[in-house]
Amino acid sequence: MKTLILRNRIEVGKALEFSESRKINFIPTMGNLHEGHFELIRQAKKNRNINLVSIYVNPLQFNDIKDLDNYPRSLDKDLKNLTKLGVSMVYLPEKSFNYNDTSTIQLGEIVNKLCGNNRKGHFEGVATIILKFLLLIKPEQIYLGEKDFQQILVIRKIIKDFNFDVKVKTIPTIRGPGGIALSSRNQRIKNINNLKKVYDCLCKIKLKIDEDNFYMKDLEYFKDDLIKSGVCKVNYLEILRESDLAELTSVPSKCRIFISCNIQGVNVIDNLSLKKVCIKESGKLVISS
Ligand code: AMP
Repeated sequence: MKTLILRNRIEVGKALEFSESRKINFIPTMGNLHEGHFELIRQAKKNRNINLVSIYVNPLQFNDIKDLDNYPRSLDKDLKNLTKLGVSMVYLPEKSFNYNDTSTIQLGEIVNKLCGNNRKGHFEGVATIILKFLLLIKPEQIYLGEKDFQQILVIRKIIKDFNFDVKVKTIPTIRGPGGIALSSRNQRIKNINNLKKVYDCLCKIKLKIDEDNFYMKDLEYFKDDLIKSGVCKVNYLEILRESDLAELTSVPSKCRIFISCNIQGVNVIDNLSLKKVCIKESGKLVISS
């Protein structure tokens, strides 16, 4: 089947009209596609819906103009890969899809956590564009990667708050050699070893928790260790409740380790699920089941 390239809202509208009653799986991306994106598409292809991938480097979610300018773009290669994967439709939004003085969404408490703190306005930008996409495409399912865990919570929130009938499907983070979380920005980092250190740090913390030997204050030690080992800046290293990114308490909850670093001017994020239910007891993280 031919992959249909849609270049504006009218073309999207027409394409969806002609697809009769078939439902849509929506896979939003910013391009420079890699195995992480391809896995989202493979998962989406498991049902009989139409798969619509968007490629859009959304200016609203960049708080740093240099980061926007330097964001790696590889449209020709992406389109070839999407055709090979048998994607039904690719939407490349037109310039007017978004304009400078657009209305934006305000999100609640979720933006005061993790990346919301060091990337002011980022999630409002993500949410605004996703809202526009949802209104236009009306998908049955949206596919998202756990690599951007906070983004999943933000998108779930707008789906709930604006009463969209969209199912959120998620996939675990796809990793490359040394456990490095694949990311479109990775190619801007010369010293791959620094990326590996980020994943190693998450694994070491997880191991200490599994060995029943982790105090929340140990996070400072791990941060220092990363800084000393050459990762220039650690934006955050935290263990929080998965459902809402709240601090851990004595109430058993599923939690996750979250990290963000700045390596050679590139923002790197990763996270690791603890899989088990934990509690915080006298400053110690304890597995409760
Ligand atoms: P992006 O192109 O970075 O905006 O990402 C588009 C989608 O791909 C988002 O849902 C991401 O969470 C997901 N994604 C990016 N990298 C990975 C990865 N390494 N593993 C799984 N999903 C990913």
